Amino acid sequence: MKVVKFGGSSVSNAEQISKVIQIVTADADRRIVVVSAPGKRFKDDTKVTDLLIALTNTVLAGKNFEAGLKEVVERYAEIQRDLKLPAEVVETIEADLRGRIAARRANDAQFMDAMKAAGEDCNARVIAEAFTRAGFSAKYVNPGEAGLLLSDDFGNAQVLDESYSKLAALKEVQEIMVFPGFFGVTKSGDIATFPRGGSDITGAILAAAVKADVYENFTDVDSVCAMDPRVIDNPPAIDCMTYREMRELSYAGFGVFHDEAIIPAVRAEIPICVKNTNNPLAAGTMVVPKRAPDERTVVGISSASGFSSIYIDKYMMNREIGFGRRLLQILEEEDISFEHTPSGIDNISVVLASANLSEAKKNQVIHRIKTELNPDAVTVEHGLALIMVVGEGMHYTPGMAARATQAMAAAGVNLEMINQGASEISMMFAVKDADREKALRALGKSFFGI
Ligand code: ASP
Repeated sequence: MKVVKFGGSSVSNAEQISKVIQIVTADADRRIVVVSAPGKRFKDDTKVTDLLIALTNTVLAGKNFEAGLKEVVERYAEIQRDLKLPAEVVETIEADLRGRIAARRANDAQFMDAMKAAGEDCNARVIAEAFTRAGFSAKYVNPGEAGLLLSDDFGNAQVLDESYSKLAALKEVQEIMVFPGFFGVTKSGDIATFPRGGSDITGAILAAAVKADVYENFTDVDSVCAMDPRVIDNPPAIDCMTYREMRELSYAGFGVFHDEAIIPAVRAEIPICVKNTNNPLAAGTMVVPKRAPDERTVVGISSASGFSSIYIDKYMMNREIGFGRRLLQILEEEDISFEHTPSGIDNISVVLASANLSEAKKNQVIHRIKTELNPDAVTVEHGLALIMVVGEGMHYTPGMAARATQAMAAAGVNLEMINQGASEISMMFAVKDADREKALRALGKSFFGI
């Protein structure tokens, strides 16, 4: 059994939905179909979820919401007309939206979730109808009735463990099941949504619950690229990577899906396949628990800007038991999370996202480090980019760090910091933001010959 998830751009209009029907029905194992709300049909289009958020804000502000409501309904009406579905489909959607608005809750976040969930919910109903009209045996599945129970953190809900055994019953259903992504219900029966992009989470939960053979995640790229195509022309495709590799890569801005979204599938060791709705015959990228070593020692290189480092120097630091703990405790007490802590005999750096270090926070942290740890020097550097070179093969292949550093040195990139992850499947390099693209080009040439 396969669980198949289609993102917003794959279900944005009739043409795309027709592709979805073809893809699903081409393989009898594709039985659970998770759908997003209609996404962008063209570059500057607005996602239905964003239209719903705007509509909800209008309602919350006590303003006239008819125009906003009409805009949402029209998106479904276009799909209904183009797929030649009965007009009642749209009437039902409009009534559903009006019902949600009328049932406005005292709690704004709760109301917002009930409204946002309508995007996926209505689309799943439309798509189930489209399958049926095309002659296939299919049905819409209501997440609440199927047992997808979530915590009541509205807008940021977490799945409750008991959902899995309930959802496992879907294995027995013979029809194609169209399951709306992004939301479930709380124990008290209220609709709650995952964070944005959360249909991926729904798909991963269902794949884990029914112990799917594979979780296919359809989007609009043939495969995941080994490097950012916005910086590097024609980067090679990744055919297969492990969960760990994907996690290391997505940590530094590698974005086909958010790695946290697929945790349920990872825990259940379900292989994930990223595929293209517009080119379904392309093999896509497999993400698997383990992979056989192959010639590709480095699977991908990712990077992200917006980091800072706090550098602390203190003679004989290595002898001072508890120094590291006290330093990290200051950060903990200031509610700052950190990314890396490379250290030397008399010094330690803490790398963190610049967004976590406002001017006031920075001054407070420095003041506390100076008074509580009595260092010889503390400096803060902003404007750093992190580059991650990732591959399972790295920990048994000599010379990988040398290859990376030589490539960057030859390109005139000054390395601010180097950190090899304890897992030895990644190397982190910090460079000045201004050097990021130069460093990536040098690494691309060295590792992938591009
Ligand atoms: N429609 C939701 C969003 O735009 C969820 C999703 O598409 O995954 O965030």
